[in-house]
Amino acid sequence: MHRDRPTFVSHLECSMTGERYEADRLHGLSRVGRPLLVRYELEALGQAVSRDAIAARPTDLWRWRELLPVRRTASIVSLGEIETPLVPIPRSGGPGAIVKDEGRLPTGSFKARGLVMAVAMARELGVTRIAMPTNGNAGAALAAYAARCGIETVVLCPEETPEVNVREIAAQGARVWRVNGQIDECGAIVARGAAEGRWFDFSTLKEPYRIEGKKTMGLELAAQFGWELPDAIFYPTGGGTGLIGMWKAFDEMERLGWIGSKRPRMYAVQASGCAPIVRAFEAGVDHAERWEDAATVAAGIRVPRAVGDFLILRAVRESGGRALAVGDPAILTAVDEAARKDGLLLCPEGGATLAAYRQALADGLVDPEERTVLFNCATGLKYPMPPADNWLDRNAEIDLASL
Ligand SMILES: *Cc1c(COP(=O)(O)O)cnc(C)c1O
Repeated sequence: MHRDRPTFVSHLECSMTGERYEADRLHGLSRVGRPLLVRYELEALGQAVSRDAIAARPTDLWRWRELLPVRRTASIVSLGEIETPLVPIPRSGGPGAIVKDEGRLPTGSFKARGLVMAVAMARELGVTRIAMPTNGNAGAALAAYAARCGIETVVLCPEETPEVNVREIAAQGARVWRVNGQIDECGAIVARGAAEGRWFDFSTLKEPYRIEGKKTMGLELAAQFGWELPDAIFYPTGGGTGLIGMWKAFDEMERLGWIGSKRPRMYAVQASGCAPIVRAFEAGVDHAERWEDAATVAAGIRVPRAVGDFLILRAVRESGGRALAVGDPAILTAVDEAARKDGLLLCPEGGATLAAYRQALADGLVDPEERTVLFNCATGLKYPMPPADNWLDRNAEIDLASL
């Protein structure tokens, strides 16, 4: 663990109106019901630390400490948040395809980045009870970090949440419930309890610090690519925290003079069975309407409504990227091929980025030689795999040539 270092948070700011909010106080959404963004004294920060000094530190998430909101090292509850590797997948993706494999993080998904930060801040600000709606991985990360510091958690999951997620959440000490509804309907119950003062609402983007944790994906990419960002990024988009966070990181690093003005084209990938951002992108509007009857195998992106919709759409458009939808069959084929040809077991959401990438190649949106990062946001080991039930009777005659 690093020594206490000064942090450089100056204030928080409404992402819609720019209204300022005081730092070091408990905040949810802004007065107009939109996410709050953390702002830093970037000039002082740039004088206190250089990108080379950061590059010389151990390669974990906390090397970025000055660009993160936690004031006191003692607030941090860590499970070992490593820098995740870049894994080329030349055979299933092509020469430019590089997977950022987030499945190596604690609790097996990149939700650990957001939740390690949000829990540390909740702890710093004296929160003792947290509730959250989740499609699985966020609840698992919350349960794990909260368990380590004695914060009580109540977690509500849509009924179609993968069984492994519900069980890991329970195993890590949260009180977890399945609900007959989608994630936003679980969120409405959490909001009711928060309004009654029963708990703090940890819904996606309804507290300001998950974005700061997810931002480290953008910081890491810059360092891993030698301070020159890749050409394109394919991100499986539910609430969009990571996409919004990376876009924010790129902006902060440019202001610090750590990178130039070149940005990757950002591709927000959704499943055709739940594609509110794609619909809004194509309609040319700033906000996405709720997607009714959402259904996809990729539970992490089964999000009918995102409170940060306009931030996702803004980043995608400013970057010259697009929002793209892929069907479940293409998702499952992509998962199968990455495993079979490149030995990398993706989660379904990671499969969605590979499927969208291949579609984008076919449509000429991306050049095969461009350096393109595909996010695999959870370990494929958490998800059901196709059956494999070959069986041998060791007492019978075995035709070894047929094995
Ligand atoms: C949560 C999640 C996503 C979506 O991430 P957001 O940043 O909320 O859009 C994608 N894939 C997996 C595996 C997830 O758990």
